[in-house]
Amino acid sequence: MSQAPDYPLELEPADLSPYRQGTSGVDYVHSFRGPRAGPHVMINALTHGNELCGMHVVKRLLDLNIRPVCGELTLSFANVAAYQLFSPQRLDARFLDRDFNRLWHDELLQEDSHSIEARRAHEMLPVVRTVDRLLDLHSTWHALKPFFVLPKFAKTRALADALGYPGRQLFLPELRHEGYHLIDYTPFRQDDAGAVALIVECGQHFARSSVDNAWQTAVRMLQVCGVVDLAVAADLHAAAVAPANASIERFEIVQPVIAESDHLEMLGSYAGFDAYPLGACAAMDGQKSILAPFEDAIVIAPRPAPAKGQQAFAWGRRVA
Ligand SMILES: [Zn+2]
Repeated sequence: MSQAPDYPLELEPADLSPYRQGTSGVDYVHSFRGPRAGPHVMINALTHGNELCGMHVVKRLLDLNIRPVCGELTLSFANVAAYQLFSPQRLDARFLDRDFNRLWHDELLQEDSHSIEARRAHEMLPVVRTVDRLLDLHSTWHALKPFFVLPKFAKTRALADALGYPGRQLFLPELRHEGYHLIDYTPFRQDDAGAVALIVECGQHFARSSVDNAWQTAVRMLQVCGVVDLAVAADLHAAAVAPANASIERFEIVQPVIAESDHLEMLGSYAGFDAYPLGACAAMDGQKSILAPFEDAIVIAPRPAPAKGQQAFAWGRRVA
């Protein structure tokens, strides 16, 4: 089997104990109200405990002591219990009992009052229920190019377009086989409700560049939602400029590709989103060529060195 890459740990975990006492009555959840009416904007980190870039960005926003000029701003660290286990020996500290990002449905939450993640979700629910605009900061184990993950609703696409960075948008399939993300919680999941939520995948979990991507996206969120005067801090202001001529590319997943051997290797990059013409060879699975099944087929989320039976990547296509 070919070796999975070893990603250097460029980011330090930070001590979050000074941020424990939240202002909303919920640990690690800080909400501030502005003097005028406006949307409730939430920027959330650590939905997964080992995704450090969001933690650094939310911490940096809290350290800037920014306050909303209108509406409400919530800055939060979600699965701190998992994060606290993170160390160079526990790089996989994503969750403890169950994935915090697969339980955001009232029925699932009613069934579970015991797992660490469901208990944390119950704590955060009163805040989440009042959010109008949610940006959930994530990263990926492999070094993928940054992209948004979002439902295909017009309202969510409009927010991703307005943010403009990153310019790639990957639409979630209609069916949630694995469970419900935080961004799937009612009313984010209703096309006709006002609340909007999206995930941004900022790059590799431990890469410094992922913090830069998360920072730019978070600051754009504050700018686009109009809740913060970005002139209050130079590094907010610097990141606030809309990416010039941001080109938006939208993708949806068509079919997974499962490795049939322990020797599947992509011929192109492992950063994802490469396009292949119909019939072009994208990977070798042992002796077998994996050919693009349609014109302009897009490689989504390639995994270096998948084992036999694991998903190696997915074929996706561009959508308008
Ligand atoms: Zn994640």
